[in-house]
Parts: sequence; C-alpha cells; structure tokens
Amino acid sequence: MTQHAHQDLTDAALEDLIVCPACDALYRVPDVPIGGRGRCGRCGHSLAAPRKNAMARIVMLASTSLVLMTAAIFFPFIELSAGGMTRRSSVLDAALTFSQGITVPLALAVAAFIVVLPMIRLAAIVYALAPMSFGWHAAPYAKRAFRLAETLKPWAMAEIFVIGVAVALVKVAGLATVGLGTAFWALVLLVLVNILNDTFMCKLTLWRTLEHRSRS
Ligand SMILES: [Zn+2]
Repeated sequence: MTQHAHQDLTDAALEDLIVCPACDALYRVPDVPIGGRGRCGRCGHSLAAPRKNAMARIVMLASTSLVLMTAAIFFPFIELSAGGMTRRSSVLDAALTFSQGITVPLALAVAAFIVVLPMIRLAAIVYALAPMSFGWHAAPYAKRAFRLAETLKPWAMAEIFVIGVAVALVKVAGLATVGLGTAFWALVLLVLVNILNDTFMCKLTLWRTLEHRSRS
C-alpha cells in the first residue's frame, strides 16, 4: 500500500479515506482481495483483512456467544465446600454479593460490565450483520447498532472477570474445595469464541458493506 492519499481531498474522496489506528497515517481505502491483508506502509498495522464468509462467521460466533452468556448466567458458576457445607453461586450472585448500602452502585456496575454490556454488544452485532449475512439489505439502524457494538467493546469485560475469578480461586483453593460450575466453562468458551471472532472482524470491510447495503 502506498501513501499518497493526502492529495486532492475532495468531499467525495473524503469518504474513501482511512486513518491507521496505530500511527495516524492517511490512506485511500485499499482494495484488498479476499484472504489478503493490507498493512500500513509506515508501521505495519493491519488495516484490512477481508475473509470469505466473514459476515456469516461473525454472526454465528456472536450468536454462540449469546447462548454461552445465557448459560453463564443461569448455571452455577462455582461451588465451594468446606466443613461439610456446600455453597453454589451463580455469576449474578458473585456480582451482587456486595449489594448492601453504599456498595450497591459498585455491584450494579460489576453486573453491567460482566453481563449486560457484553449481551447488548453481541445482540447489536447479530442485529446489524445477520440480515446481510443472508445476502439481504441491512436492517434499519444497522449502522447505529454496529457503532454501538464498537463503542461497547472496551467496556464488555467478561474476559477480565474470568481471569479475575481464576486468580481468586487459586487463593481460595487452600481453604475450601472448589468446584467449577457449568457457567465458568461457558464463560471460558465465550472468551475463546470472542478471540476467534476478532480474527474475522475486518472492520473496514464490514463498514463498507454496511454503507452499501443500508438504504438510509
Ligand atoms: Zn500505521
């Protein structure tokens, strides 16, 4: 990819420009063949990597994540046994443990970051991309939904929660017998599916398809 995009910036051409998120170099939207990868000429950051059937895969993986997230909420998360007593907790129990007095806002924020925001994000991705993955026009407000999903990405912290719980369990393991419930494994799978999903997510291609297929 060569870097002479900053010449003749007419209004029409402006839509075809992208900025490297890593080093701010300006490029014309590259025509990268499917399976190829367009990199920033200055810093090597991947700018475009369209994949075959990416749309369908992203929708499938996001739907899988939604199912896993639902399982993670309703199945037991961990089981602690000590001195003949066993206690099962769900993810929501864990998040709302501290919901008394002034810590209520904290508990609600934890629940939002672990469960609510990731679910809204996944639902927004499915809503925005599913019709297009079937070859139809984009759903109404698809662009807005996809932008919402992008905005929520840094705030959807199921991954961090899983890592945090894993670290905490190592410490508790000496004091009590710890059993990992279905919900824990559902969340672990969810993290893996999300990583897989990010490799299919070529935002440039998705946004272009959204622009072309949206009627508004
Ligand atoms: Zn760059």
